[in-house]
Amino acid sequence: MTDIDPYDRATIDALITGYRDHYARDTYRAVAIEQEFRLPIFNPNSKRVSTSKTYEYAGKIDLLVDDPSQPGKIWLMDHKTTSEDIENPASSFWMRLRNATQPTHYQLALKQLGFEIDGCVWDVIKKPSIRPRKITKEEKKELEMFSTYHGVLIDMGYVPDIEQPEHYAARVLSDIRATPGKYFQRQIVPRTNEDLYEYASELFGISTRIRECETDGRFFKTGEPHSCTLYSRSCEYLPLCVREGSTFDYVQSPGHSELEDQGDGLKILTNSSLSMFRQCERKYRYRYVDGLKPIYESSSLGFGSAFHVAMNNFWADRLAPESERIYMKGVTVE
Ligand code: SF4
Repeated sequence: MTDIDPYDRATIDALITGYRDHYARDTYRAVAIEQEFRLPIFNPNSKRVSTSKTYEYAGKIDLLVDDPSQPGKIWLMDHKTTSEDIENPASSFWMRLRNATQPTHYQLALKQLGFEIDGCVWDVIKKPSIRPRKITKEEKKELEMFSTYHGVLIDMGYVPDIEQPEHYAARVLSDIRATPGKYFQRQIVPRTNEDLYEYASELFGISTRIRECETDGRFFKTGEPHSCTLYSRSCEYLPLCVREGSTFDYVQSPGHSELEDQGDGLKILTNSSLSMFRQCERKYRYRYVDGLKPIYESSSLGFGSAFHVAMNNFWADRLAPESERIYMKGVTVE
Protein backbone atom coordinates (compact mmCIF):
# COMPACT_ATOMS: atom_id res chain seq x y z
CA MET A 1 0.00 0.00 0.00
CA THR A 2 1.24 3.47 -0.90
CA ASP A 3 2.80 5.35 2.02
CA ILE A 4 0.20 8.03 2.71
CA ASP A 5 -0.85 10.50 5.35
CA PRO A 6 -2.54 8.66 8.30
CA TYR A 7 -5.67 10.86 8.00
CA ASP A 8 -5.93 10.01 4.28
CA ARG A 9 -5.58 6.35 5.29
CA ALA A 10 -8.40 6.87 7.83
CA THR A 11 -10.59 8.48 5.13
CA ILE A 12 -10.03 5.50 2.82
CA ASP A 13 -10.85 3.00 5.59
CA ALA A 14 -14.09 4.86 6.36
CA LEU A 15 -15.05 5.13 2.69
CA ILE A 16 -14.41 1.43 1.98
CA THR A 17 -16.38 0.35 5.07
CA GLY A 18 -19.24 2.69 4.08
CA TYR A 19 -19.08 1.47 0.46
CA ARG A 20 -19.27 -2.15 1.61
CA ASP A 21 -22.33 -1.36 3.78
CA HIS A 22 -24.04 0.70 1.08
CA TYR A 23 -23.61 -1.91 -1.66
CA ALA A 24 -24.11 -4.96 0.59
CA ARG A 25 -27.05 -6.14 -1.54
CA ASP A 26 -25.37 -5.28 -4.82
CA THR A 27 -25.43 -8.20 -7.29
CA TYR A 28 -22.51 -7.12 -9.49
CA ARG A 29 -19.61 -9.60 -9.62
CA ALA A 30 -16.11 -8.96 -10.96
CA VAL A 31 -15.39 -10.98 -14.12
CA ALA A 32 -12.07 -9.28 -14.90
CA ILE A 33 -9.71 -7.19 -12.79
CA GLU A 34 -6.71 -5.24 -14.09
CA GLN A 35 -6.49 -6.68 -17.61
CA GLU A 36 -3.98 -5.13 -19.97
CA PHE A 37 -4.36 -4.67 -23.71
CA ARG A 38 -2.27 -3.38 -26.62
CA LEU A 39 -4.03 -3.07 -29.94
CA PRO A 40 -3.44 -1.65 -33.43
CA ILE A 41 -4.82 1.77 -34.22
CA PHE A 42 -7.03 1.46 -37.30
CA ASN A 43 -7.74 4.22 -39.74
CA PRO A 44 -11.52 3.87 -40.02
CA ASN A 45 -11.69 6.41 -42.84
CA SER A 46 -9.40 4.65 -45.34
CA LYS A 47 -10.87 2.45 -48.08
CA ARG A 48 -8.63 -0.52 -47.17
CA VAL A 49 -8.08 -1.46 -43.54
CA SER A 50 -4.79 0.17 -42.52
CA THR A 51 -3.16 0.63 -39.14
CA SER A 52 -0.66 3.03 -37.62
CA LYS A 53 2.91 1.82 -38.19
CA THR A 54 4.21 3.86 -35.25
CA TYR A 55 1.71 3.48 -32.42
CA GLU A 56 -0.57 1.03 -30.73
CA TYR A 57 -3.13 2.03 -28.17
CA ALA A 58 -3.03 0.43 -24.78
CA GLY A 59 -4.46 0.45 -21.31
CA LYS A 60 -5.33 -1.49 -18.23
CA ILE A 61 -9.02 -2.21 -17.72
CA ASP A 62 -9.58 -2.05 -13.98
CA LEU A 63 -12.84 -3.90 -13.72
CA LEU A 64 -15.49 -5.70 -15.77
CA VAL A 65 -18.63 -6.76 -13.93
CA ASP A 66 -21.61 -8.96 -14.68
CA ASP A 67 -24.87 -9.53 -12.84
CA PRO A 68 -26.22 -13.10 -12.58
CA SER A 69 -29.76 -11.68 -12.56
CA GLN A 70 -29.14 -10.23 -16.06
CA PRO A 71 -27.42 -13.09 -17.93
CA GLY A 72 -25.21 -12.19 -20.90
CA LYS A 73 -24.67 -8.58 -19.90
CA ILE A 74 -21.22 -7.20 -19.06
CA TRP A 75 -20.30 -3.70 -17.96
CA LEU A 76 -17.09 -1.83 -17.63
CA MET A 77 -16.90 -0.34 -14.14
CA ASP A 78 -14.86 2.76 -13.51
CA HIS A 79 -14.35 4.19 -10.01
CA LYS A 80 -13.92 7.89 -9.59
CA THR A 81 -13.29 9.93 -6.46
CA THR A 82 -14.25 13.58 -6.45
CA SER A 83 -14.80 16.51 -4.12
CA GLU A 84 -17.74 17.73 -6.19
CA ASP A 85 -21.42 17.29 -5.36
CA ILE A 86 -22.58 14.02 -6.96
CA GLU A 87 -26.23 13.88 -5.86
CA ASN A 88 -27.71 15.76 -8.82
CA PRO A 89 -27.66 13.37 -11.82
CA ALA A 90 -28.08 16.30 -14.22
CA SER A 91 -25.11 18.30 -12.84
CA SER A 92 -22.17 19.41 -14.97
CA PHE A 93 -20.09 16.82 -13.09
CA TRP A 94 -22.17 13.95 -14.52
CA MET A 95 -22.33 15.61 -17.94
CA ARG A 96 -18.53 15.66 -18.00
CA LEU A 97 -18.37 11.99 -17.05
CA ARG A 98 -20.80 11.12 -19.82
CA ASN A 99 -18.43 12.82 -22.24
CA ALA A 100 -15.24 11.26 -20.78
CA THR A 101 -13.00 9.41 -23.24
CA GLN A 102 -11.78 6.72 -20.83
CA PRO A 103 -14.79 4.37 -21.12
CA THR A 104 -14.82 4.85 -24.90
CA HIS A 105 -11.09 4.05 -25.10
CA TYR A 106 -11.65 0.81 -23.18
CA GLN A 107 -14.89 -0.07 -24.90
CA LEU A 108 -13.29 0.28 -28.34
CA ALA A 109 -10.52 -2.09 -27.18
CA LEU A 110 -13.06 -4.59 -25.87
CA LYS A 111 -14.95 -4.44 -29.16
CA GLN A 112 -11.70 -5.11 -31.08
CA LEU A 113 -11.10 -8.05 -28.76
CA GLY A 114 -14.57 -9.43 -29.48
CA PHE A 115 -16.38 -8.47 -26.26
CA GLU A 116 -19.70 -6.65 -26.48
CA ILE A 117 -20.12 -4.40 -23.44
CA ASP A 118 -23.42 -2.97 -22.26
CA GLY A 119 -21.97 0.36 -21.12
CA CYS A 120 -19.81 1.82 -18.41
CA VAL A 121 -20.93 1.97 -14.80
CA TRP A 122 -19.46 5.16 -13.39
CA ASP A 123 -19.02 4.30 -9.72
CA VAL A 124 -18.47 7.66 -8.06
CA ILE A 125 -17.27 8.17 -4.52
CA LYS A 126 -17.25 11.62 -2.98
CA LYS A 127 -14.30 12.49 -0.78
CA PRO A 128 -15.47 13.73 2.64
CA SER A 129 -15.24 17.48 3.23
CA ILE A 130 -15.07 16.80 7.00
CA ARG A 131 -11.67 17.70 8.49
CA PRO A 132 -10.05 16.51 11.75
CA ARG A 133 -10.93 18.80 14.67
CA LYS A 134 -10.93 19.09 18.49
CA ILE A 135 -12.88 16.48 20.42
CA THR A 136 -15.90 18.09 22.11
CA LYS A 137 -16.86 17.65 25.81
CA GLU A 138 -19.79 15.41 24.84
CA GLU A 139 -17.58 13.26 22.64
CA LYS A 140 -14.98 12.96 25.44
CA LYS A 141 -17.72 11.78 27.79
CA GLU A 142 -18.79 9.12 25.26
CA LEU A 143 -15.16 7.96 24.94
CA GLU A 144 -14.63 7.81 28.72
CA MET A 145 -17.89 6.01 29.49
CA PHE A 146 -18.26 3.64 26.52
CA SER A 147 -14.89 3.73 24.67
CA THR A 148 -16.87 4.64 21.57
CA TYR A 149 -16.69 7.65 19.30
CA HIS A 150 -19.75 8.37 17.17
CA GLY A 151 -20.81 4.80 17.90
CA VAL A 152 -17.51 3.16 16.82
CA LEU A 153 -15.38 1.28 19.39
CA ILE A 154 -12.04 3.08 19.98
CA ASP A 155 -9.67 1.40 22.41
CA MET A 156 -6.72 3.81 22.82
CA GLY A 157 -6.36 3.84 26.60
CA TYR A 158 -6.48 7.65 26.76
CA VAL A 159 -8.66 10.49 25.46
CA PRO A 160 -6.76 13.03 23.34
CA ASP A 161 -7.85 16.65 22.77
CA ILE A 162 -7.59 16.43 18.98
CA GLU A 163 -9.09 13.69 16.85
CA GLN A 164 -6.54 11.02 16.02
CA PRO A 165 -6.96 9.14 12.69
CA GLU A 166 -9.12 6.49 14.47
CA HIS A 167 -11.54 9.15 15.79
CA TYR A 168 -11.62 10.97 12.51
CA ALA A 169 -12.38 7.71 10.61
CA ALA A 170 -15.23 6.98 13.07
CA ARG A 171 -16.80 10.43 12.56
CA VAL A 172 -16.48 10.20 8.77
CA LEU A 173 -18.02 6.71 8.80
CA SER A 174 -20.88 7.95 10.96
CA ASP A 175 -21.61 10.72 8.43
CA ILE A 176 -21.39 8.24 5.53
CA ARG A 177 -23.86 5.91 7.24
CA ALA A 178 -26.27 8.80 7.91
CA THR A 179 -26.12 10.19 4.35
CA PRO A 180 -24.81 7.46 1.99
CA GLY A 181 -26.30 9.13 -1.12
CA LYS A 182 -23.97 12.08 -0.57
CA TYR A 183 -20.96 9.76 -0.88
CA PHE A 184 -21.91 7.01 -3.34
CA GLN A 185 -23.64 7.33 -6.69
CA ARG A 186 -23.62 5.27 -9.87
CA GLN A 187 -24.77 5.92 -13.42
CA ILE A 188 -24.58 3.64 -16.45
CA VAL A 189 -23.27 5.42 -19.54
CA PRO A 190 -23.84 3.58 -22.82
CA ARG A 191 -21.55 3.88 -25.85
CA THR A 192 -23.07 3.30 -29.30
CA ASN A 193 -21.22 1.92 -32.32
CA GLU A 194 -21.33 5.48 -33.69
CA ASP A 195 -19.50 6.70 -30.56
CA LEU A 196 -16.87 4.00 -31.00
CA TYR A 197 -16.41 4.77 -34.69
CA GLU A 198 -16.01 8.46 -33.91
CA TYR A 199 -13.45 7.65 -31.20
CA ALA A 200 -11.50 5.30 -33.53
CA SER A 201 -11.32 8.13 -36.04
CA GLU A 202 -10.11 10.56 -33.35
CA LEU A 203 -7.54 8.04 -32.11
CA PHE A 204 -6.06 7.68 -35.58
CA GLY A 205 -6.13 11.47 -36.15
CA ILE A 206 -4.39 12.27 -32.85
CA SER A 207 -1.77 9.55 -33.33
CA THR A 208 -1.00 11.05 -36.75
CA ARG A 209 -0.64 14.51 -35.19
CA ILE A 210 1.66 13.16 -32.43
CA ARG A 211 3.86 11.54 -35.08
CA GLU A 212 4.09 14.89 -36.92
CA CYS A 213 5.15 16.63 -33.68
CA GLU A 214 7.77 13.95 -32.97
CA THR A 215 9.12 14.11 -36.53
CA ASP A 216 9.36 17.93 -36.43
CA GLY A 217 10.57 17.93 -32.82
CA ARG A 218 8.03 20.71 -32.20
CA PHE A 219 5.31 20.47 -29.59
CA PHE A 220 3.44 23.74 -29.32
CA LYS A 221 2.11 25.30 -26.10
CA THR A 222 -1.47 24.54 -27.12
CA GLY A 223 -2.62 24.38 -23.49
CA GLU A 224 -1.99 28.06 -22.89
CA PRO A 225 -3.90 29.56 -21.12
CA HIS A 226 -6.71 27.20 -20.08
CA SER A 227 -4.59 24.15 -19.15
CA CYS A 228 -1.76 26.09 -17.47
CA THR A 229 -3.99 26.33 -14.39
CA LEU A 230 -6.63 23.64 -14.16
CA TYR A 231 -8.91 23.00 -11.14
CA SER A 232 -7.01 25.78 -9.31
CA ARG A 233 -3.70 23.90 -9.69
CA SER A 234 -0.82 25.04 -11.85
CA CYS A 235 0.43 22.68 -14.51
CA GLU A 236 3.42 20.78 -13.13
CA TYR A 237 5.53 21.94 -16.09
CA LEU A 238 4.73 25.66 -15.77
CA PRO A 239 8.22 26.44 -14.33
CA LEU A 240 9.82 24.88 -17.43
CA CYS A 241 7.49 26.75 -19.77
CA VAL A 242 8.32 30.12 -18.19
CA ARG A 243 12.04 29.17 -18.05
CA GLU A 244 12.19 29.56 -14.28
CA GLY A 245 12.60 25.86 -13.53
CA SER A 246 15.13 23.23 -14.52
CA THR A 247 14.83 19.59 -15.51
CA PHE A 248 16.72 18.84 -12.25
CA ASP A 249 13.40 19.58 -10.48
CA TYR A 250 12.02 16.43 -12.14
CA VAL A 251 12.89 12.76 -12.17
CA GLN A 252 13.29 10.61 -15.25
CA SER A 253 10.40 8.19 -15.39
CA PRO A 254 9.07 6.32 -18.43
CA GLY A 255 5.61 7.48 -19.45
CA HIS A 256 3.89 4.11 -19.34
CA SER A 257 5.88 2.17 -16.76
CA GLU A 258 2.81 0.20 -15.70
CA LEU A 259 2.26 -1.38 -19.11
CA GLU A 260 4.37 -4.20 -20.47
CA ASP A 261 6.84 -3.55 -23.27
CA GLN A 262 6.12 -6.09 -26.03
CA GLY A 263 9.50 -5.46 -27.67
CA ASP A 264 7.87 -4.84 -31.09
CA GLY A 265 9.25 -1.30 -31.47
CA LEU A 266 5.80 0.25 -31.55
CA LYS A 267 5.11 3.10 -29.14
CA ILE A 268 1.96 3.06 -27.10
CA LEU A 269 -0.73 5.64 -26.51
CA THR A 270 -2.94 5.33 -23.46
CA ASN A 271 -6.06 7.26 -22.56
CA SER A 272 -3.93 9.33 -20.15
CA SER A 273 -1.29 10.20 -22.73
CA LEU A 274 -3.92 11.00 -25.36
CA SER A 275 -5.80 13.21 -22.87
CA MET A 276 -2.56 15.00 -22.06
CA PHE A 277 -1.84 15.60 -25.74
CA ARG A 278 -5.38 17.00 -26.17
CA GLN A 279 -4.72 19.25 -23.15
CA CYS A 280 -1.37 20.55 -24.38
CA GLU A 281 1.19 19.31 -26.92
CA ARG A 282 4.09 20.70 -24.87
CA LYS A 283 2.89 19.00 -21.70
CA TYR A 284 2.75 15.69 -23.60
CA ARG A 285 6.35 16.21 -24.72
CA TYR A 286 7.59 16.85 -21.18
CA ARG A 287 5.84 13.80 -19.79
CA TYR A 288 5.89 11.19 -22.57
CA VAL A 289 8.80 12.16 -24.84
CA ASP A 290 11.28 13.63 -22.34
CA GLY A 291 9.99 11.32 -19.56
CA LEU A 292 9.98 14.04 -16.88
CA LYS A 293 7.93 13.63 -13.74
CA PRO A 294 7.75 16.10 -10.83
CA ILE A 295 9.82 14.91 -7.85
CA TYR A 296 7.00 15.62 -5.42
CA GLU A 297 3.63 14.12 -6.29
CA SER A 298 0.68 15.90 -4.68
CA SER A 299 -1.02 14.14 -1.75
CA SER A 300 -4.21 13.83 -3.78
CA LEU A 301 -2.31 11.52 -6.17
CA GLY A 302 -1.14 9.46 -3.17
CA PHE A 303 -4.73 9.28 -1.97
CA GLY A 304 -5.91 8.27 -5.45
CA SER A 305 -3.50 5.35 -5.82
CA ALA A 306 -4.11 4.10 -2.26
CA PHE A 307 -7.86 4.25 -2.83
CA HIS A 308 -7.44 2.40 -6.13
CA VAL A 309 -5.62 -0.45 -4.34
CA ALA A 310 -8.34 -0.58 -1.66
CA MET A 311 -11.08 -0.80 -4.32
CA ASN A 312 -9.21 -3.55 -6.18
CA ASN A 313 -9.04 -5.52 -2.92
CA PHE A 314 -12.77 -4.97 -2.41
CA TRP A 315 -13.61 -6.33 -5.87
CA ALA A 316 -11.11 -9.20 -5.59
CA ASP A 317 -13.45 -10.51 -2.85
CA ARG A 318 -16.33 -10.40 -5.34
CA LEU A 319 -14.75 -12.35 -8.16
CA ALA A 320 -17.00 -14.62 -10.25
CA PRO A 321 -16.02 -18.33 -10.34
CA GLU A 322 -12.91 -19.00 -12.45
CA SER A 323 -14.88 -20.51 -15.37
CA GLU A 324 -16.98 -17.34 -15.73
CA ARG A 325 -14.12 -14.83 -15.80
CA ILE A 326 -12.76 -12.97 -18.81
CA TYR A 327 -9.04 -12.86 -19.65
CA MET A 328 -7.49 -10.33 -22.01
CA LYS A 329 -3.87 -10.13 -20.90
CA GLY A 330 -1.43 -10.53 -23.77
CA VAL A 331 -4.19 -10.72 -26.37
CA THR A 332 -3.51 -8.80 -29.56
CA VAL A 333 -5.50 -8.44 -32.76
CA GLU A 334 -3.53 -9.15 -35.94
S1 SF4 B 1 3.09 22.55 -20.61
FE1 SF4 B 1 1.30 23.45 -21.64
S2 SF4 B 1 -0.28 23.47 -20.07
FE2 SF4 B 1 1.68 23.20 -19.03
S3 SF4 B 1 2.32 25.28 -18.48
FE3 SF4 B 1 3.25 24.79 -20.47
S4 SF4 B 1 1.81 25.60 -21.97
FE4 SF4 B 1 0.71 25.48 -20.02
